[in-house]
Order: sequence, then structure tokens, then C-alpha cells
Amino acid sequence: MKVPLLDLRAQYGPIREEIIGAVMEVLEAQRFILGPKVAELEEQVARYSEAKWGIGVSSGSDALLVSLMALDVGKGDYVITTPYTFFATAGAVARLGATPVFADIDPRTYNIDTDKIAGAAKKIPKGRLKAIIPVHLYGQCCDMDAVMDIAGELGAAVVEDAAQAIGARDGKDRPAGSVGDAGCFSFFPSKNLGALGDGGMVVTSRDDLKEKLAMLRAHGSSPKYFHKIIGGNFRLDTIQAAALSVKLKHLDLWSEKRRENANLYNMLLTDAGAPVKTPYIKKGFRHIFNQYVIRAKDRDGLMGFLKEKGVGTEVYYPLPMHLQECFGYLGCRQGDFPESEKAAKETLALPVYPELDVEAIGYVVERIKEFYT
Ligand SMILES: *Cc1c(COP(=O)(O)O)cnc(C)c1O
Repeated sequence: MKVPLLDLRAQYGPIREEIIGAVMEVLEAQRFILGPKVAELEEQVARYSEAKWGIGVSSGSDALLVSLMALDVGKGDYVITTPYTFFATAGAVARLGATPVFADIDPRTYNIDTDKIAGAAKKIPKGRLKAIIPVHLYGQCCDMDAVMDIAGELGAAVVEDAAQAIGARDGKDRPAGSVGDAGCFSFFPSKNLGALGDGGMVVTSRDDLKEKLAMLRAHGSSPKYFHKIIGGNFRLDTIQAAALSVKLKHLDLWSEKRRENANLYNMLLTDAGAPVKTPYIKKGFRHIFNQYVIRAKDRDGLMGFLKEKGVGTEVYYPLPMHLQECFGYLGCRQGDFPESEKAAKETLALPVYPELDVEAIGYVVERIKEFYT
């Protein structure tokens, strides 16, 4: 049996006609940049996220970048975030000439430990902390009340990296991306809402930020050819918007299936008695399982064994940000963020995509059992 980590063809099959129809419409209209299709998706994603505005952008990475630009983050500024995330989170900060400052994760959720944010802020010169970027890793929201409280105390803006969390909800039933000053989504094909290539969106309920974000994604112009601020080309393609509008209608069902798959894994893995830790779900939170991540004894051995048995897995992420070569100038060392370092060595993502069937999940669990016996 072969169980890939992700099978996008299984998702495409049942919606093929719809997607082709939407793409054809754009081809027939020959209108490829912004226009009503992008505006429509922006409205749909804003509504879905219970935010006032959506601004379609070229990727999740650019969503983070333009959000920080809109908040005037630049040289001499500092931004607190987690070291255990995809590179783009810290990369966006550094690209603007600002300095990322890390706070370690809660080992249960893998999200930033909000009790460690104040400590991180102490390392920052007074008045220079501009923003905090909580990352809703794997599809489970951070403790946003705690993040907003501490951000308020420190006078920092909050940009939610919700790249993996569209449709997730926190303990107060608030959608990912709706609580901070801005929320950033990625439509990278492997995310829960994936485009036919790259794409992203920023949601915000702040009118001032919306205006600025819309300008920034089009070289800071308003109107065209009159540049108020320096932006870039960070637009979302019309073809992507058309396909995403089709897919958005299916998103809740897909996320529900991911949740069911995760539940089944939890049950079967617990019954199997294997030395693996199933994901911790905070009470009252809606985890949408962009990734189903376990902690496993002899993770690398298990990963190799599963590969031999035809099961695709992945390590998200093998090296925390503070130990990346490109961030050497920050002067962090091994041991600075022990929970992130430990998670990088112990975690493994198993296939959890919506179309995965019960037999496949059973097969994966049986192989895990086999490895440990
Ligand atoms: C995917 C991802 C991004 C970047 O999104 P892209 O669309 O690939 O640029 C940023 N942060 C996190 C946590 C991600 O998972």
C-alpha cells in the first residue's frame, strides 16, 4: 500500500469541472490582473474570517511582508516571534531590516509560549518593539487573549501568521487571522485552501491598514502611477482567485475530514500503545490539522521505516530559526530555545489529507506499531 503525505489529485478529481470552468472564464475574459474575481475572493475570505477586509497578495510570505510594511516595521525595529515555524515568518522581519527576537514554544501545542514573550521583550531597546507574530502552527490557534494582552502592555502590533490555519478557531470561537491587527493566509498548494500555484491574503478590520495594504501590493500607488509610498508587486493573480473561490466552498468539509482523520489516528495510536505522542488539542479550540504531527521515539528511524513501507511523512521543521545559518548574525546558540530544538528532533507529520481513507490510516498505524515491536 502507498500512502502519500498529500494527494492533491484526490482533491482535484471531484471538483475538476468547477475549477476548469472558473479558469476558463478568466481565459475568455483575458483579464489576468486583479479585477472582480480577486475582489470577490477578498470579500469571501474576509467574511469567512470574520474580518472587515481581505487583500489578495502573491503568497503567504508576501502577506507577512506587506503586513509588516503597512505597520512601518523597518530598520532598527524589533519583532517577537517563534523560532519553530516556516522560514517566511522570521524572513519577512529580516528582509525589512528589522530584527527578529524569538520566544520559545509551548511543547504541547508547538505555538509560541506567551509566558515567554515578556522575557524576550526585555532584550529589546526601549520603544523599539514594533510587532509580535504569533504563528498558528499546524492549524491550531495560539492563545490569542494572552498574545493581545501582552502586546497591549508592550505597545506592539499583532500580525497573525495564519498560513496553516484558515478556518481554525480559538477558545473564544474567533477565526484565525481575525484577532490581531492583521492576519496572513497562504494559498500554497499544500495548505488547507490551496491555489494552483502561489497565492496569499491579508485580512484586517482596520480601515487604515486596508488602505495601505492595497497600495503596497501595487507599488504603493493610488491612483495608478502616483506613488504615495514604496511598495512592490505583491498582487494575487486573477486565475488563482477564480480557482480559490471554487475551493473555498469546500474548505469546511475538507477541514472536517482532516479533523475526523486526526481523531481516528488519535484513537488508533493510543490503542496501539506505541511510544508516540498524539497532538494536544486545547480545550474549545478548532484545530484544522493542516498537519497531523506526532512526537516519536527514534523519529528518524520511524521516518525511514515508514518510507520503506510506502508511507510519506515530513519533518516540520528540522532546524529552528535561531540556528539557521542566515540568522547567525543574531548571535543565538544551541540551547537558547530548548523546546523548539527538542520538537525539531522529535516531531513527524503523518498523512492527514481529507481524502485519506480509514484503510490507509489503519495501515499507517499498523506500520508504526510494527516499527516499535
Ligand atoms: C506556508 C507558510 C508561510 C508562507 O506561505 P507561502 O504562501 O508559501 O509564501 C508562512 N508561514 C507559515 C507558518 C507557513 O506554513
